Amino acid sequence: MIYQRSSALFKAAQNVIPGGVNSPVRAFKAVGGDPIFVKQAKGAYLYDEDGNKLIDYINSWGPMILGHAHESVVNAVVEKAKKGTSFGMPTEIETQIAELAVSMVPNIDKIRFVNSGTEACMSAVRLARGYTGKDKIIKFAGCYHGHSDSFLIQAGSGAVTFGSPNSPGVTKGTAQDTLLAKYNDLANVESIITSNTNEIACIIIEPVAGNMGCIPPVKGFLEGLRALCDTHNILLIFDEVMTGFRLAKGGAQELLGVNADIVTFGKVIGGGLPVGAFAAREEIMNHLAPLGPVYQAGTLSGNPLAMAAGLAMLTELNDNPEIFKSIANKTEYLHKGIADVLNKYNVVHTINRLGSMISVHFAEESVVDFDTAAIGNNDTFKKFFHGLLNNGIYIAPSAFETWFITEALTYDDLDTTIAAVEKVASTINL
Ligand SMILES: *Cc1c(COP(=O)(O)O)cnc(C)c1O
Repeated sequence: MIYQRSSALFKAAQNVIPGGVNSPVRAFKAVGGDPIFVKQAKGAYLYDEDGNKLIDYINSWGPMILGHAHESVVNAVVEKAKKGTSFGMPTEIETQIAELAVSMVPNIDKIRFVNSGTEACMSAVRLARGYTGKDKIIKFAGCYHGHSDSFLIQAGSGAVTFGSPNSPGVTKGTAQDTLLAKYNDLANVESIITSNTNEIACIIIEPVAGNMGCIPPVKGFLEGLRALCDTHNILLIFDEVMTGFRLAKGGAQELLGVNADIVTFGKVIGGGLPVGAFAAREEIMNHLAPLGPVYQAGTLSGNPLAMAAGLAMLTELNDNPEIFKSIANKTEYLHKGIADVLNKYNVVHTINRLGSMISVHFAEESVVDFDTAAIGNNDTFKKFFHGLLNNGIYIAPSAFETWFITEALTYDDLDTTIAAVEKVASTINL
């Protein structure tokens, strides 16, 4: 495939946008080459600026669970836009989407809308600190909760009590309040809690990790966290920005049967417009301004276009709950097809999957946390990525990302993808 125009556009972008992109993951730094510029998309397909058609497994990193330019979502936005794009005053649609979200998700009474997953997680942690009167938080190595300061903390040589920032600009003071734990390691969490008695406000976790590839929680892990939180008066925050309205109507809480105290959302909840949200039971949410002392605000929060897209998306999912099973089945089919091909060509690999989240790791060991996710052979991934791209399949340009399966993908698309994997596995020495 030819990417001449994309490369020219990337060159122009680099002159005026740092690295040519408005979010680093879009650059192809991890895999080499120039990013592809999209012209338009419909259903399961992307059409780029060079006229290539690609089967899309990123889907805006999750939001387009029904495929691109879904009619009801697009119509809702277009109709809303004609009536004004922002007021900074309350609108009825905010209550409508809030009522729907609260009815779909277990264990929440009230929800506050923001503009991104980052904002949702940042605000959820502030709320947890305000509610508990404690400062420290526990997060897990390899879990991503957006780019606010508290979350950009590195797993430095087991120094869990004095984490060091992994981005310049994050202060040591901030880093010290974030304690790093190992995913799927309950004993590790327990020891961190024991050495910080009465100091921990919350544990924030991706209930199914999706930002180090897909890593499901091992049996008993989330239940164990729930019990630890109850014992030690710590709030459990499920970051469901990726899993919310994807794994089930009620997200991971529903699918896995574990209740969180605060839940954060993003991605699917906005139907492709910038929306995030955080939610909890009434007693916690009432600590937020203007009812309570914990401040949180936003000029464009609850924006009518964003709410229209989100409401249309959630309505589709609420009215057609069989979608969740359908995309999980498609994901299972893809898993089996890819595994058969990679086995046939003796490519060392591990595939993780839960619901409609799946990731292919080029490692033999099972991938259960950040350390084991990092073992995968990145050179193999690069060849795999570019090989698929040359065959019209677009997966995330990083070995640490989940593939997002959408309802728009047909079994023909999946077969085309599996055939492309076979082509790559047979012609490139993976
Ligand atoms: C994408 C993501 C975020 C950040 O959301 P943005 O809208 O990119 O700010 C937070 N948490 C998880 C689990 C995510 O996948």
